[in-house]
Amino acid sequence: MHCPFCGSTSTRVLETRGARRRRECGGCGNRFTTLERVESAVDVVKRDGRRERFDRQKLLSGLRRAAGGRPVREEQLEALTEDIAAAVRRRGPETRAEEVGELALQGLARIDPVTGIQFASVYRRFEDLDELEAEVRRLRDAVAVPSDHESSIGLSPTDSSTDRRRGHARQP
Ligand SMILES: [Zn+2]
Repeated sequence: MHCPFCGSTSTRVLETRGARRRRECGGCGNRFTTLERVESAVDVVKRDGRRERFDRQKLLSGLRRAAGGRPVREEQLEALTEDIAAAVRRRGPETRAEEVGELALQGLARIDPVTGIQFASVYRRFEDLDELEAEVRRLRDAVAVPSDHESSIGLSPTDSSTDRRRGHARQP
């Protein structure tokens, strides 16, 4: 288990609630949540045909990287991760990596369009600025309807254990 802020492996569990573990880093003192649950086996099939087991913690880490430096709350990313994990389970026993990426992109764009673009710029590996511009337009259309993401996921938005000291997350 690596701290998402400094990479230290010296972390301790503060609280366990269901699949959520609240952790504190011994290196930098930041607190973060991990989602540790035994997954029903869903394979993610990559573009090149390789497979890997769907890993929600890995997904959450990717979302955190995309949101680095943006005003996105940790619990929004956790809620999105849970949503995507549920969608992946429904589609199981396997799903394509592009579908997971698309769900992540749409979800991030609803939370914060700039984060969506940051994710897309990595995920889609834009060839040039024309492609980026086209993606911005596409996202703007796709997120025209506001999301009620948090309320639908059942996470308390007043979770007092959540800190907002992010901003050291590295860009991919
Ligand atoms: Zn740390």
